[in-house]
Amino acid sequence: MSLVLTVDGPRWRAHLQGVVARHPGVVPVAKGNGYGLSLGRLARKATWLGVDTLAVGTYDELGEVANRFDGSLLVLTPWRPFGAALELAPGSPLSRRVIHTVSRVEDLSALLARDPGARFVLERTTSMLRHGMAARELREAGALLAERGGLASQLAGVALHLPLAQGSHVGQVQRLMTDVVAAGLTSTTVWVSHLKDDELAQLGASYPDYTFRPRVGTSLWLGDRGAFTVAAHVLDTHPVERGDVFGYRGRSSPKAGTILVVSGGTAHGIGLEAPSGDLSMKARAATIARGGMDAVGFVRSPFSIDGKQRLFAEPPHMQASMLFVPSGSRVPAVGDTVDVRVRYTATSFDRVVVS
Ligand SMILES: *Cc1c(COP(=O)(O)O)cnc(C)c1O
Repeated sequence: MSLVLTVDGPRWRAHLQGVVARHPGVVPVAKGNGYGLSLGRLARKATWLGVDTLAVGTYDELGEVANRFDGSLLVLTPWRPFGAALELAPGSPLSRRVIHTVSRVEDLSALLARDPGARFVLERTTSMLRHGMAARELREAGALLAERGGLASQLAGVALHLPLAQGSHVGQVQRLMTDVVAAGLTSTTVWVSHLKDDELAQLGASYPDYTFRPRVGTSLWLGDRGAFTVAAHVLDTHPVERGDVFGYRGRSSPKAGTILVVSGGTAHGIGLEAPSGDLSMKARAATIARGGMDAVGFVRSPFSIDGKQRLFAEPPHMQASMLFVPSGSRVPAVGDTVDVRVRYTATSFDRVVVS
């Protein structure tokens, strides 16, 4: 009936505990669809792991985690003087737990005008160029804070959002650290993303007065994929001869085989193509060349039977998909399950079962 994510609980929890043990000060990130596991579940796991801070992506996500985790809540999307950030009542119990990300000098003044007791990190831009202050702006922010006595109890540090690793980030972080030191801030905590263990160790040794706190989502929650199984039910099987008509588009079967109807469709985030992470024209051409699309125009699906990826008979429907199994291959029975390869951050499972 359903698209189900089954998690080997003991193995998953051992992995989570291992990551936390190896990374003192780690900040789990719970955002979006909760990496396929739901925000609420990740918040409860953060409580169980005993971390002091949980990061969420947006202000809108605070409500999903605030009752399940009672530590500090770092909001990764920078504070702006508009939108959901303004729904957080200054001085409320929840606002006292929030650590805002401030990425523009004008927002620092505006945030403090609105909520003089606000806690925050200052974001410095990286080669990502997503959000953050340039070196000069970080110094301006430092000066503004110095005028107010440093706000040591409210400034939680500096945030750096680094791209996914292509080579080492150490050189870049060292250059950025020069700016952090020059800003003359009262905090010596630096919140970072996407640094490998050896890079964190190297930075810790280079800056013994500073504490680096890694924000980790994917390699924490999804770091041991072997603990996860995604399965869909076979809901129907229809033998077809060449020329038989099927599907929304009244397509006729190019050869004999079986139309297999399985659970899982666009509403779950099942896409037309198996996730490859690379959708360039060149990659598509390579997919076709490798047999991702067969001679009669069926497109490869993320569903596999007996370890073999099967083709969509037509584009996925909202909650079910039609696959084509050529004659000669084993046809699973109604009620059997088939494996599905998914992109966890873009999939809504009907059920997540953690043992
Ligand atoms: C999403 C995010 C992270 C965590 O990224 P993962 O790749 O899931 O570990 C860290 N920092 C920021 C600012 C993010 O937006």
